[in-house]
This record gives sequence, C-alpha cells and structure tokens, in this order.
Amino acid sequence: MKVTSKRCAYCRRLYRPDSRTRKHQRSCRRPACRRARRRQKQRRWRARNPDYERSRSAKRRVWVKAYPDYYRRYRASHAGYRARDNERRTRGRRRATVSANVTAWRHIIVEKTRKLGVAEKPGMSANVTALSRRVEALEDCLRSTVEAVVSAKQTGIAAGGMLAG
Ligand SMILES: [Zn+2]
Repeated sequence: MKVTSKRCAYCRRLYRPDSRTRKHQRSCRRPACRRARRRQKQRRWRARNPDYERSRSAKRRVWVKAYPDYYRRYRASHAGYRARDNERRTRGRRRATVSANVTAWRHIIVEKTRKLGVAEKPGMSANVTALSRRVEALEDCLRSTVEAVVSAKQTGIAAGGMLAG
C-alpha cells in the first residue's frame, strides 16, 4: 500500500502532501508552518550566500545617503513597521546588556578562581578542564538569571547593580 501522508517538520502532525511536490515538501499547509519553513530556507540561503547581504547593505548605505528622509517618512507612515522595529531595537539593546553583564561576571569568576589558586597548581589540566566546565555552567545560569532580571526591569540598571554589589 502506498503511503499517502507525511509528518510536518514543524508541527509534527501528519498531513497529505501535494502529489507533485511530495518528495521535497517539508511542511503542512498551515500558515504558521509555511512561515517557519520559509524563514528556515531564507536563513540557510543567507548563511550559504554571505556576500549577498554584504553587497545589499553596502548599496543600501549609498542609497540612504542620497535619500536621507526616506526612512524617517517611512517610519512616520507605517505604524506597524515602527512598532516592530522599536521592539527589535529594544531586544538588541537588552541582549547587548545581558552579554556585557555575563562577560563581566565571567571575568569576576575567573579572577576569583585564579586567586584561590585552583588552576595554578602543577599537573592540574584535568582540574582546569573541570573548572572551565563549571565556569561555563555558572555562565549559563547567570545568563538566564540576568536575562530574567533585565526583561523584568526592562533596563540594564538592576543587573548592573547586581554586579556592583
Ligand atoms: Zn505543520
């Protein structure tokens, strides 16, 4: 008996693929799955073609210089875009804050463990590996903590205060 259904790579539900594209089809017809499929394809394509993005953004920079008001007007007349873009910028700033805090924490941990002299005794390479694994685990833990604090407060001030204390 011929198998007529496939499993969607995105929602994991069974679906009936289009008979003409059954070999290549990866997602069911749900809009969310199609969007996920499209985003994944685009991400992969851009990863394989890094020059495309570079050349596009170089051209865009030149173009923006010639039309300095374009984005200001575009933002003014496209409220949806403006909201999404503001959200994206906030996320970026938040991520940068978290990164900076985690880096600072890492320095503190490395510095404190160095002062303890754990990594400096001879013939300790196994311990050093174990130690660096511990530092990484701590870093993961700190990252999620700092992320939670930063997103709760919406600023980097609280996490920065934690560092100083
Ligand atoms: Zn699906």
